[in-house]
This record gives sequence, C-alpha cells and structure tokens, in this order.
Amino acid sequence: MPVTIGIDLGTTHSLCAVFRDGKPELIPNSHGEFLTPSVVGVLETREIVVGSTARELRITHPERTSSCFKRFMGSDRKLRVADRTFSAHELSSLVLKSLAADAEAFLGEPIVDVVITVPAYFNDHQRQATKLAGELANLHVRRIINEPTAAALVYGFHERHAEKQLCVIDLGGGTFDVTVMEVFEGTLEIRATAGESMLGGEDFTDRIVSAVLSRQKQQLEVAELKQPLLVARLRAECELAKRSLAKSESAKIRLPDANGEYSNTTTEFSITRETFAKLCAALMQRIAIPVDRALRDAGCSPAEIDDVIMVGGATRMKLMTQQVQEYFQQAPRMDFNPDEVVALGAAVQAALIDQDCAVEDIVMTDVCPFTLGVEIVKDLGGQIQDGYFQPILHRNSTIPISREEVFSTVMPNQSKVEIRVFQGDARRVKDNVELGQLSVQGLPPGPAGMPIHIRFSYDLNGLLEVEAYTPGGKKHSTVLTNHVKGLSPAQIQEAVRRLSELKFYPREDLGNQHLARFCERLVGELNTHRRQQLELALDEFESAMNVGDRGLFDNARTALLMTLSSLGIEYDERSVDGDVN
Ligand code: ADP
Ligand code: MG
Repeated sequence: MPVTIGIDLGTTHSLCAVFRDGKPELIPNSHGEFLTPSVVGVLETREIVVGSTARELRITHPERTSSCFKRFMGSDRKLRVADRTFSAHELSSLVLKSLAADAEAFLGEPIVDVVITVPAYFNDHQRQATKLAGELANLHVRRIINEPTAAALVYGFHERHAEKQLCVIDLGGGTFDVTVMEVFEGTLEIRATAGESMLGGEDFTDRIVSAVLSRQKQQLEVAELKQPLLVARLRAECELAKRSLAKSESAKIRLPDANGEYSNTTTEFSITRETFAKLCAALMQRIAIPVDRALRDAGCSPAEIDDVIMVGGATRMKLMTQQVQEYFQQAPRMDFNPDEVVALGAAVQAALIDQDCAVEDIVMTDVCPFTLGVEIVKDLGGQIQDGYFQPILHRNSTIPISREEVFSTVMPNQSKVEIRVFQGDARRVKDNVELGQLSVQGLPPGPAGMPIHIRFSYDLNGLLEVEAYTPGGKKHSTVLTNHVKGLSPAQIQEAVRRLSELKFYPREDLGNQHLARFCERLVGELNTHRRQQLELALDEFESAMNVGDRGLFDNARTALLMTLSSLGIEYDERSVDGDVN
C-alpha cells in the first residue's frame, strides 16, 4: 500500500514525516535538513528554487523571492516574484512539490497521499486554499488537520495511558493557536481551540526592525518599498538578534547601508531582553487573550492543566516561556523540538488513516474552532432590520457535525433567498467574517413565514458544507464558493498545467546553488580586501557552473571552499544562518 506522509506547511518552515516501524520519523530534504524554509525564489535562469537556497537569495535579491505567503492563503492576492505573479496557494504548492520530491528521494517510492496541517484558527477559505495547494502539487490531500491537534497527537501517542488535561500553546512564524485537550485511555479529546491567524514570531522580528528604523526616522512600510535591500538584510540581522535573546541577555544589531551591505563604519545597536520585552508588550497582551478564551471554553482553570506543551519555533522566546510559566504556575514542556513536533503528529494522523496497527488503540476527536451561522432579519417592534447573525454551529462543537435550523421567508410569495454565511461570535454580521453565499431560487408561492431548512455540515478536515431546502422542494447545496474556492475543475487543471511548466532547479545541484547564494550574501558583509578575494573565487565558481565542465567545476568549488576557510568563514550547507567571524 502506498504510504501517506504528514506535512507541516509552515509560514517560515515546512517539513514532512512518515510513520515507519511503529513510530513517526522526520524526512530530511536534499541538504540533509529537516526544516525547509517556506521561501520560493526564481533564479535569473527562470528556474525555481525552494528552501534554504531561496532564503539566501531573499537577502541579496528580495524581489526574486517570496516568503511568509501562508499569511495570504485563502485570499486572491497576487504576489510578485521576479517577473511572475503567483497566488499564495500556488507558492505553497511549489513548497509541497519540493517536500514531496525530498520524501520520494528518501523513501524511494512515489508520494501521492498526504496529510497537511493548518493552524487550528485557519478559516474555511484558508483550509480550502491549503487543499487546493495540495491538488496543484498533484498530491491527494487525505486529511487537513489542525497543527496543535497534530502536536497533541504526538504527546498522546507517547503517553496514551496517561489521564491528563493538556494545553498546547503553538506560536509559529505567522499564527498563534491554543488548544485544550484531555487524554484518557488512548482517547484524545480536543475540548477547545482559540487563536489568531495573524500573530506569530515574525511580528516580534518586525518590532525590532521597526525600532531600528525609527531611530533612523524611517517607517518599516516605507523603507520596505524604498530600500528593500536594507530592510531584507536588516530583517535577517534582527531575526538572529531575536534568537540570541532566547539564550542571552543582550544582542547586537548592525545597520546595513542602502545596498544591504556592511562596512567599517556600519552603525551597531545593542538590544537587551528588557527593551525587547517593552517593544513586544502589545503582542504579549494579544497572546494572553486566546489562552484565556480556550480555557474558559474548555471549562477549566489554569491550575487544572496538568501539562503545558510548547509548539512552534517562537515559543523559544524567553518572553513566551516566562508568560506561560507565570500564567500556569508550572514550567512548560518542550520534550520534542517545537518546530518538528507538528510534522511528527501529521505522520501519526497519516498512520491512523492508513490503519497502521501501532496506532489502533488511539482515538482522536477534534472541534470546530469558530461559530458558524447565517444572516437573518429581525422584526424589532414592527420594524424589519437586517444584518443580524444567527449561529447554526457553535464554536468548539466536536466534529464531524451536522446541524439543521429552520428559518422562514419574510415576504408573501417570496421566490428566492440569498443565504449569507458568516463565521464569528458578534451579534451583527458586519462584525463577523463572511464565508460565502448560497442562493435558493424557485420557492413555491405562499404567505410569509414559509419554512426554509438550512443545514451546516462541518467535516473532519474543517471544511464547511451548506445545504438549504424547502419541504418537498429542491435541495441547494454548496461547498462555499468565495475567493480561491471559486476555481472550477477545469481552472484547477489549467493551474496545474501552468505550474508544471515551471522548471525546478535540479535537485542534485541545489547544494552548489546554495553555496553560490551563501557566498553572494557574504560578499556584502566583508571589508574590501576580503570581499575582493571572495568575489574572485565566486566568479570562477559561477562560470564553471555555467560551462558545465565537471573537472573545471570541481576545481572551482574546492577553490571557493578554500577561500571561505582562509577568510575564517565556516560553510555548512545545513547551517543557513552561517555568520561571518
Ligand atoms: P511556522 O510553522 O509558522 O513556519 P516555526 O514553528 O518554524 O513556524 O517557527 C518559526 C518562528 O519561530 C519564526 O518566527 C522564528 O523567528 C521563530 N524562532 C525560531 N527559533 C527561535 C529562537 N531560538 N528564538 C526565538 N524565535 C525563534
Ligand atoms: Mg508551524
């Protein structure tokens, strides 16, 4: 039977895992790394690169790359990469293709079936876009599963005989989720989920970038347009500073010039944990809100939580561990690498789907994170007013779930109704998120007050189906059709064809491309003399790459590596954050 793999398609990193020999196992990419940066680049040769090579390219040629596109999933926003435009689901499909190719190389068999994780707080549009990204990569998405649920599955898998209440806190690059769950006798029951889909570790980096720029009397949004090279390099610098603050009290930040380069006169700032905490105070307040809400919805107090599990790279920030520890009065658990555990959980879910005997005693239930309903009109003292929200499925109901409510027509001989579907908890629809519409036509003539049944079904993937009918009449049904979901099968086929015409940079040569991009980035960081030395060796290497003569190429590569080492620079294909001494 072909194996189903689990994929964590993250804002900053993606990775995949497989369930083998009774346990989940991470799959390395072509660089031997588990984490593949979710960055797509277009080389000057028009070839596509994904991962660490694209991330190196982002620093020297930001306009040739796209990153953090997960934030735009489910929208029809077009993202420019070199001379092309892509939508977020297309860029995600390129990441998925690259991960599937790595998994095929590692497992030695074709990969078709996948489980993909999404933030629990992803709405219907964002989930549909994720499913579409899978289809565009020619993959069969067997299940979409919530990231914190996946993480909880790993803990549940290892501690299936425990009886505990767990709280999973998941702060990734761009999203934040909190999930409360109960484990007993192999049953994992998700009790409540809350979160924010626009809050993540990247926002913390942005706060540092903005602070540095404002000292220069610049605004991040303006600088990004006017001085993209400066901002790209500064963001990489601030990312390193943020990471060092997880371990030390203070960190240094160098301010690159307008070309994104450093020199002997480069200004240097120092940032302490205290300053960082002040800069991020508002973000930390936003973090507290979903935590409170998830516990409230689950009906338990912080003291009733047995274990707090940290997931997502950004939970490594001291700010996070401190706040969580104070709130729960206990140290959070990080038994598994916070940026790997979701992929491992996706592989456990894949094993559940493939009915692997190692997981036959595990049962898992999940919930729908949002309240879902329709717009209704109200008769308030004889005045008919529209714009009110009527819930049909309440948040944190166990899924799959299907519920029906009966509504009625407002006018005599009303022949049609437009059903507007919303997600949210506000009383008025204008304060909730519109998910789509369903038009019911051809109602039989009759007085006002004729019944219309509306049924909402929310499946295990977190996808919503809406049905409406009048007794004895025709059934109208829709999987909501806003935004990207409006693509017809023919349009999907066309998108698949267009994407398959893109040429990926050969996987076996990616290491060389990565080395070239790494050196190109370093060139901007070195002083004149060292810079000349590196540039000379890099020119030789790039011409040898172009000529394609193996002997010439091997010599040039060795010469380039020797130059790096004589400059005191350590090059490890895996350590993409390699720094200059
Ligand atoms: P995603 O799944 O959204 O891609 P990850 O779980 O990979 O996210 O986490 C990425 C985020 O974690 C980034 O914002 C990154 O800056 C942050 N991060 C990773 N390691 C650290 C660290 N040591 N200290 C602080 N932040 C970190
Ligand atoms: Mg993640």
